[in-house]
Amino acid sequence: MEHGNFIAGEWCASGTGETFESVNPADTRDVIGRFQASGPADVAEAIRAADSALPAWRATPAPKRGEILYRFGALMAEHKERLAGAMTREMGKVVAEARGDVQEGIDIAFLMAGEGRRMFGDTVPSELPDKWAMSIRQPIGVAGIITPWNFPMAIPCWKMMPALVSGNAVVFKPATDTPHCAVLLVELMAEAGFPAGTVNLVTGSGEAVGMPIVESPDVPVISFTGSTDTGRRIAAVAARRLKRLSLELVVKNGIVVMDDADLDLAVDGIVWSAFGTTGQRCTACSRVIVADAVADELLDRLVARTAALRLGPGNDPETDVGPLISRAASEKVARYAEVAAREAEIVQGGAVATDRAGLEHGHFFEPTIVDRVRPMDRLGQEEIFGPLLSIIRVADYGEAVLALNQTRYGLSSSIYTADVNLAFQAMRDFETGIVYVNAGTIGAETHLPFGGWKGTGNGHREAGHVALDTFTEWKSIYIDYSGHLQRAQIDNQRA
Ligand code: NAP
Repeated sequence: MEHGNFIAGEWCASGTGETFESVNPADTRDVIGRFQASGPADVAEAIRAADSALPAWRATPAPKRGEILYRFGALMAEHKERLAGAMTREMGKVVAEARGDVQEGIDIAFLMAGEGRRMFGDTVPSELPDKWAMSIRQPIGVAGIITPWNFPMAIPCWKMMPALVSGNAVVFKPATDTPHCAVLLVELMAEAGFPAGTVNLVTGSGEAVGMPIVESPDVPVISFTGSTDTGRRIAAVAARRLKRLSLELVVKNGIVVMDDADLDLAVDGIVWSAFGTTGQRCTACSRVIVADAVADELLDRLVARTAALRLGPGNDPETDVGPLISRAASEKVARYAEVAAREAEIVQGGAVATDRAGLEHGHFFEPTIVDRVRPMDRLGQEEIFGPLLSIIRVADYGEAVLALNQTRYGLSSSIYTADVNLAFQAMRDFETGIVYVNAGTIGAETHLPFGGWKGTGNGHREAGHVALDTFTEWKSIYIDYSGHLQRAQIDNQRA
């Protein structure tokens, strides 16, 4: 089936006349549909539509905008199974995790619907008599939303819900690997009642669709999640136009296991964090930093648990670990497995798994554990974004903190310990936007800020009420009801 772009409230074909296929990563013979391979002219049309919709949308009271978000969240909840099934087919994650992805979308829709009635500013005393002082948020304009494939519903919702509730219109460019998920979301947004032009979807490549959005002078705010290479290119273009830009980029998350840790608990958290979503979560654990005293025991248990994980298509209830998103992703993990074989010690997995019955047509890779990685090795430093876990052995907490923080990235970290003092030190010392104690690195809740330190981002946050910061300008308002001239910083300083 062929799917259109969604521009000015209508599903339409791209002016290029070209389309591309989206396929199931568990079985690439399964073609999900054909999608518009759009170009700059489609982007321009979508931006015009968004621009035209802006005056009425920003004049709509925020609580009323919130009601539409609420309806959208309710529709997602009603269609949760259908959405999760479609996501598993297109992105590969097992159905339980796909349900979680949809649920994140529902949660942020409801949270941001509530923001329609809050969107707090400050009302503060003025330094002068008979004068009122307050601040309010206002929308910025047309927001460009550029998203990756790994959370194909949650991430677009995390960006579009705060943008829309605060009165912006959006032009949404999803990843080329997951356009069907985007179409399904936008269908429900239309049904929920977002006015024509407030939500526009343009599918196509990063170069032909993403970059024209970033380059447009009529898109003053961009929210992007993806690789650092792409983020840098976007940042360079956006900087020339002084755009508001929120970036969520490459990650290298780590779990610290101290010698007093509950190892059963740690193994549960590590296996889930390293191999859940086939290691393709932004919060996935790529490094375990373990105290020497318990390293062998932890590793034995990890290997046993990992060896028992069942690879397969995400819609099979027996499957623990689904496919990678693409052949390129699988080849990337294979290249790191070669590095591991040369520079460290592969103790579990290490090979593509497509030679197994039933997996021949998918991008499957064995869940892999590599021991005796050093913090500054390539495996300790570079993002792999697949089911390959490195074990780094350390002597004590001091070495563990050093190893954990010795990376350019900083999204999520965790510590397993029974020592409350160490737990508090970790909360203070770990240089990441999320710190977990006695749980793995994954599982962010939508009402807290989400975002990475250091090279993982540029200081903006998604989720929580702070998500509104990306999509709003502050306006400070003063009302002087004294009836005469009062000069700030002058008249109130008279002796
Ligand atoms: P990507 O290649 O950078 O793509 C992300 C999005 O940008 C896609 O929609 C892509 O379009 C588009 N794009 C590509 N080139 C572009 C350009 N020149 N101008 C504008 N847009 C462009 O990243 P990915 O491989 O899809 O995603 C995986 C990455 O996302 C990983 O590095 C992961 O760590 C990161 N991630 C980070 C977080 C976080 O919170 N920090 C969360 C999730 C994922 P096409 O699909 O058409 O190429």
